Amino acid sequence: MSKKVNWNEVSEGTKAIWSGELDCFQDHASQMPVVLSVAYGYEDLDEWYDVALGKKKGHIYSRNTNPTMELFEEKMRIIENAEASTSFATGMAAISNTLFALLKPNDKVVSIKDSYGGTSKIFLDFLPKNNVNVVLCETGNHEEMEAEIAKGCTLVYLETPTNPTLKVIDIERISKAAKKVGAIVVVDNTFSTPINQKPLELGADISLHSATKFLGGHSDATGGIVCGSKELVKQIYHYREITGATMHPLTAYLLVRSLKTLELRIQRHNDNALRLAQYLSRHKKIDQVFYPGLETHPGHKIAKEQMNGYGGVLSFTLKGDYNTVKEFLPKLNFAHMAASLGAVGSLAGPPKTTSHVELTEKEREQLGIPESLIRYSVGVENIEDLIDDFDKALSQI
Ligand SMILES: *Cc1c(COP(=O)(O)O)cnc(C)c1O
Repeated sequence: MSKKVNWNEVSEGTKAIWSGELDCFQDHASQMPVVLSVAYGYEDLDEWYDVALGKKKGHIYSRNTNPTMELFEEKMRIIENAEASTSFATGMAAISNTLFALLKPNDKVVSIKDSYGGTSKIFLDFLPKNNVNVVLCETGNHEEMEAEIAKGCTLVYLETPTNPTLKVIDIERISKAAKKVGAIVVVDNTFSTPINQKPLELGADISLHSATKFLGGHSDATGGIVCGSKELVKQIYHYREITGATMHPLTAYLLVRSLKTLELRIQRHNDNALRLAQYLSRHKKIDQVFYPGLETHPGHKIAKEQMNGYGGVLSFTLKGDYNTVKEFLPKLNFAHMAASLGAVGSLAGPPKTTSHVELTEKEREQLGIPESLIRYSVGVENIEDLIDDFDKALSQI
C-alpha cells in the first residue's frame, strides 16, 4: 500500500526526513540502498523500450538516473517546493550545466559582480567565448540591475547573500523586473539553503545549490542540485545526461542522510552565527563585521524580509593588516583553516587565499574585500566554546 502526504501541510524538517521514503525500499530496507549498478536489466523488451522513452518509471543507465540519486533529488524537490529537480557531481556542474543548457549565442545575461569565483569565471570567460553577452552589475545596486534588465535579457543570475561580504539582493524585486522582459531568473541558494530562503516562492524560476556546503554539511561529499519548473529542469537534465556531470550514488546516500538533519543544523548555524557576529562587533580588536543578521549591515532590511534566518557564514576584519590575520588564525582551536563552508565544524580562511585567490589586490579592493578580511563559516559547536576560543585567540594578538 502506498502512503500519501500533502507536503504543503508539513514543515521542512519533516519533509527532509520523510519525503521519498514513506514506504520501505527493496527487501524491506528502511534506509535507501546505495545502488551502484551502472545498468538496469529488463526481461521484457517492450517494457525496456517504454522506460527508455520515459513512458514508464524506471532506470536504464546510471549516467542518466539512479535510484539513490533520485531519492536525493526528490527530497530537494519537496523541500524547495519545486515541480522538478536534477542532481550533479558538484555545485559548479549544476551552475555550468544550467547556464549552457539555457543559453545560446547572442543571448544576454545580467548578473552581479560578487558571484562565486567559479561562476564569475564562467561569466567573464566561458560564456563570452560562446558569444553570450554578460553584464555584471554592482552587487546590491537594485536600480542599476533593473535598468540593465529593462534593456532586455535572456537570463538573470543572482546569488544572495554573497561571498564573502554577505551582500543581500532582493530576489522578489529583481524577479519582477526580469518577468517584464521574459527573462529566466536563476538563484544560487547555497548560502541560505531552503530552510532560510525559498527563491522559487520569491519569483525565481530556478534555485540551485552546491550540495557540498550546507546540504551535505560534513565536508565529505561534493554535489549539486537544480530545482525549478518541469520544463526548465528537463532541458538542464538533458544537458547533464549527455555531458555527464552525474552525482555518484554513494554521494547521493551521504546527502540523503545529511538532509535529515538540515533543519536542525541550519537553526543552530543561524543561532551561532548571530551570537558570534554580535560578540565580534563589540570586541575592541575587531574592525568590521559583515553579517546580514546585524542591524548595521546594509542588507539587513531585505534579509529580514526574504530570509527565515541569516545563515552560518560571516566575515570580519581585525584591526591590523594581513600579518595580523596570519598571526591570529592559527590560534583558533576550533576552526579548520581551509576553503569551503557550511560544515558542522567551523571553517576559517581569508578570501585572499580561498574564494578570491585568482583576483589581484586591486580587484579585491573593487569588490570591497579588504586584504585582512576573514571569512568564518560558523559550525554547530556549542557557541560558548567558540566564543571562548575567540576570546583566547584575540587576547594573544
Ligand atoms: C562552493 C560554492 C559553489 C561551487 O560548488 P562546488 O560544489 O564547489 O562545485 C557555488 N556557489 C557557491 C555560493 C558556493 O559557495
